[in-house]
Amino acid sequence: MVFATNNEHKLREIRQILGDKTEIQGLSDIGCTEDIPEDSDTLEGNALQKARYVAERYGVDCFADDTGLHVDALDGAPGVYTARFGAMNGFGDSHDSQANIRCLLSKMEGKTDRRCRFRTIIALVRHTDNGTLEEHLFEGVVEGKIVTSLRGTNGFGYDPIFEVEDTGLTFAEMGAEGKNALSHRARAVARLAAFLREEKR
Ligand code: IMP
Repeated sequence: MVFATNNEHKLREIRQILGDKTEIQGLSDIGCTEDIPEDSDTLEGNALQKARYVAERYGVDCFADDTGLHVDALDGAPGVYTARFGAMNGFGDSHDSQANIRCLLSKMEGKTDRRCRFRTIIALVRHTDNGTLEEHLFEGVVEGKIVTSLRGTNGFGYDPIFEVEDTGLTFAEMGAEGKNALSHRARAVARLAAFLREEKR
């Protein structure tokens, strides 16, 4: 099965969770080097778009993920635009974490309701015996709040400003192990893993 990512960190993480019984290849393993379109306005749409693209063109079973940060005081933004939030608002380039953080902190200035959540959607697209494709979606959510200044040095993306509910710690103040025990992505992956394990029984 192929995981539609070029991110070695994500590949390593998923291989650890799924174990030896399910062999996972990345996009480079199947020679997929093109930019896969990702232009839906929902996380579900983007994850399905990526997984379908690879399943259809490369004839393999595939899953893909998409993650968004949803902030209540911003009506759910940045959501599906999480990676490009800064660039869309005149703060640096797309995928620039520092710019994204500066942008979000500026939008949150003066806001007292700082609740938010990270959501990951994983879409699994597989070939069936009768030549059609079947699709499954898995969701992982972690609740938290946006802090007022950066804390911690671990992780990536918005980690220094996302404080995880009931922990008092930002993701960047947790070690990788602590974060992987409760992160949105880990929860979505755990649901995918449970689904695959259940089938093997
Ligand atoms: P992607 O769908 O994994 O590419 O993530 C989309 C955006 O969400 C990127 O800007 C990431 O930096 C951000 N993001 C995803 N997961 C995390 C996380 O675990 N911590 C902080 N930021 C994240």
